[in-house]
Amino acid sequence: MSESAASRNSDGWEKTACVLCSVNCGLEVKVEGRRITRVRGNKDHVASHGYACEKAQRIDHYQSGKDRLDSPMRRRPDGSFEKIDWDTAIAEVAARLMRVRDEFGGASIFYYGGGGQGNHLCGAYSTATRRALGAVYASNALAQEKTGEFWVEGRLTGGRPSPDFEHAEVAVFVGKNPWQSHGFQSARPTLRKLSADPNRALIVIDPRRTETAELADYHLQVRPGTDAFCLSALLAVMVQEDLIAHEFLREHASGGADLFDVLRQVPIADYCSRAGLSETLGREVARRIARASSVSVLEDLGIEMAPHSTLNSYLEKLLFCITGNFGRKGAMNLHTGMGKLVGDVTKDRRSPVGGHRIIGGMIPCNVIPDEILTDHPKRFRAMIIESANPLHSLADSQRMREAIDSLDTVVAIDVAMTESARHAHYVLPASSQYEKWEATFFSSEFPNNYFHLRAPIIEPMPGTLPEAEIHRRLVRAMGALKDEDLAPLHAAAAKGRSEYAMAFLQATSSNPALGTLTPIVLYETLGPTLGKGNEVAAIMWGAAQNSAMTYPEAIRRAGFSGDGPALGNALFDALFNSRDGVTFSVDDYEETWRRVKTPDQRIHLDIPELIEELKSLANEKPETDSQFPFILMAGERRSSTANTVIRDPAWRAKDRGGALRMSPADAQSLGIASGGRVRITTRRGSAEAVVEVTDRLQPGHVSLPNGGGLEYPDAEGHTVINGVPPNELTASDHRDWLAGTPFHKHVPARLEALG
Ligand code: SF4
Repeated sequence: MSESAASRNSDGWEKTACVLCSVNCGLEVKVEGRRITRVRGNKDHVASHGYACEKAQRIDHYQSGKDRLDSPMRRRPDGSFEKIDWDTAIAEVAARLMRVRDEFGGASIFYYGGGGQGNHLCGAYSTATRRALGAVYASNALAQEKTGEFWVEGRLTGGRPSPDFEHAEVAVFVGKNPWQSHGFQSARPTLRKLSADPNRALIVIDPRRTETAELADYHLQVRPGTDAFCLSALLAVMVQEDLIAHEFLREHASGGADLFDVLRQVPIADYCSRAGLSETLGREVARRIARASSVSVLEDLGIEMAPHSTLNSYLEKLLFCITGNFGRKGAMNLHTGMGKLVGDVTKDRRSPVGGHRIIGGMIPCNVIPDEILTDHPKRFRAMIIESANPLHSLADSQRMREAIDSLDTVVAIDVAMTESARHAHYVLPASSQYEKWEATFFSSEFPNNYFHLRAPIIEPMPGTLPEAEIHRRLVRAMGALKDEDLAPLHAAAAKGRSEYAMAFLQATSSNPALGTLTPIVLYETLGPTLGKGNEVAAIMWGAAQNSAMTYPEAIRRAGFSGDGPALGNALFDALFNSRDGVTFSVDDYEETWRRVKTPDQRIHLDIPELIEELKSLANEKPETDSQFPFILMAGERRSSTANTVIRDPAWRAKDRGGALRMSPADAQSLGIASGGRVRITTRRGSAEAVVEVTDRLQPGHVSLPNGGGLEYPDAEGHTVINGVPPNELTASDHRDWLAGTPFHKHVPARLEALG
C-alpha cells in the first residue's frame, strides 16, 4: 500500500469513488484481501454527499474480473499469446514504436483511448509517450458522442456551459435519461424534486417513455430520428410568437438575423406532426421554457448519435441562448476545470488521409478505419490503445478488426484481455482503478466545482503496473529523458514545493523538450517526495498549478490563499490529502461572461454551416426502407449497463443476456413474447437476441443495451460471448456530415422471430 493511503482508513471503511459513470460518486468500501466486499455512499464526499445508485454495489465485478491480466503478453504468429517479463515487453514495444516512427514519422502512430468513466490519469501520462514518439493524432470515445456538441459550443461561446438543475425553474433533457445515465450529481433525487414541485417543470424530449419521462411534466415523445424537427418547431414558436429575450440578446449576443429568418419560415404544425407531436403540446412547451425565470438544458447520446447530430446540438443550445438562460443562477454557466479533457475546438485541423474534421484534438471514431485501410502514404501504421476497447465500442467492428489487424504494431494497455487487446501485438497489464492513484477531469459543476483525487485502497495486482509507470518506462526506453536534465529538479524537490516550482519553471523554459515530457518529469522528480507508491499523484501538482494560474480568483473564493505557485501548492496539498474530494473553485455568475471566448465576448448565434442544414429540413423526406422497417437503438443505457468497464455478465442482477426491447404491438405482429428469440439484421450484420416486450418503446423502435457481447470466461474457463455486441450491426459510414458522430441510436433493421 502507498505510504499516505495506508493511513486513511476509518473504522475499516476505505474512501474511494464509483468508476461506472462520469459522476464518480464518492464511496466508502470494505476490502477483504483483494476484493471489495461492501459498498456505501460517502456522506462526507464534497460533491455526492452520500448519494450512490445501485450500480456501485457491484464494482467488485470490475476489481475481481476473471480476465484481468497479471503479466505483459506478446502475440505469437499463430495469434495465441505468451507471457513475457516487463523488461522484455518495454524494450520490444519501445523498439517497435521507434522503428515505425523512424521509418514513417511519428504522425503514423495513432493513440486511442486514455481513460474511461473513472480513470483519466493514464491519458494524462500518455502525453509524454506520445510526444516522445511524435504521435500527433489521437481519438477516444468522446469523438463518437460529444464532438459535434463541442464544436457548436466553440462557435457559440468558446466554452462548455453547465446546467444548474438544482436551481432551475425548468429543466429540459434532450435525448437523455438521467435516471439511468446520470450525468450530474445526485440525479435521481434532483429529478424527484423537480417533478414534485408544482412551480417548476421537467421537460423530456425522447422517443422512449424513460424513467425520467415518467416523472416529467411534459414528455415530447418524438418519433425516432426527428429531434431536429421537434427542436426547430420549439425555437420557431419562440421566434414567431416573439418570446425571445430581446434585451438579453441586445446586451450579450451577436448575429442571429439569419437564424431568426429561417426560424420565422418554419411550418410549426408540420414539423410537430413530422416529429409525431401535437402542435398544441409543442407550443405549450416552448412557452413554458421561454417564460421561465431560469432554464437549464442537457443533451446526450439520444440526439448526438442520431440523424442531424451536430444540428441537434446547435438547436438544443439555442433553447437557452435565445431565451437568455446563460450567465445566471439556475441557467447555463461556464465552469472552471482542473484539467482539459478536450483540446481547442475552434482549431481547424484535419485527419491526414481523409481530411476529416478533428474536433478538440479527436479524429472522428467512424473514420479511423479509413485512415488505416488505404495505401495513402500518411496512413496510420501503428496504434496504442489505452484503457479503451475500440474493437467493441466503435462502429462497424468487422471493419475495425480488419483495420487493426493490418497495422504494423498494436500495443494495448488495459486491466483485462479485452476484444481489442486480443488483436494487439503486445498487451501491457495495468493496475485497477482501486490499486493506484486515480481521478477524472469530468467535474464541471457551477458555481462550486469539485475534484476528487483518489488514493489506492488495494495493493496492485502482482504483475501489473500503474499506467504512469508504464509510460515512464517507455519514455526512458526511448531515451527521451536524461538523468542530468532531472538533477536540478530532484535537488529542488528535496527542499520543498516552492523551490520545486521555481526550478520547474526554469528547467522547462530553458529546455522546452523537457516541458513536453512534463508528466514523467513530475513523476520522476516530485513523485518520490510524496511517499512510496504515491508518485502517480505528482501529475496533479501540474494540474493544480495550471488551474491556479487560470482561475486564481475562483480558487481563492474556495478558501485557498496565496499567489502564483503558492496558490497552486495550496490546492495540490488539499487534493493530495483529502479523501473526500475538494471544492477547488467557487464562482459568481458574472464569471461566466469573462469566460466567453468569442472575440467580442458575446454569444455568436449564427452558425452558417448549420443554418444551411436547418433550412434543408424543409425538403427532407421521411426515411423509409421496406427492407429495414425498424429503427434499432444500438446501445441503450440501462440499470444493468456500464459501457465495458465491467466484463463479467454476472454483475447484472437481471437482463444478463442484454435483451432486445420492443413494443407490445411489434411483439404481437412478430408473434413473439418476452423470452423469445429474434434475428436482427441491419445493412452491416446480423445477430440473435432474446426479446423483452415493453411499452416504453414506440412501435417500430427497438433497442439493445450498450456494453453487450463481451467475451468472458465461463465456469469451465471457456470464453463465451454474452449478449449482442451492438457494433457488429453498425456501419462506419452512417454518421454526421460535420462531426462524424455515428448514428448508433438510429440503425435501420429488420427482425425475424426465431421462436
Ligand atoms: S453509476 Fe454513476 S451515479 Fe451510480 S453510483 Fe456510480 S458514479 Fe454514482
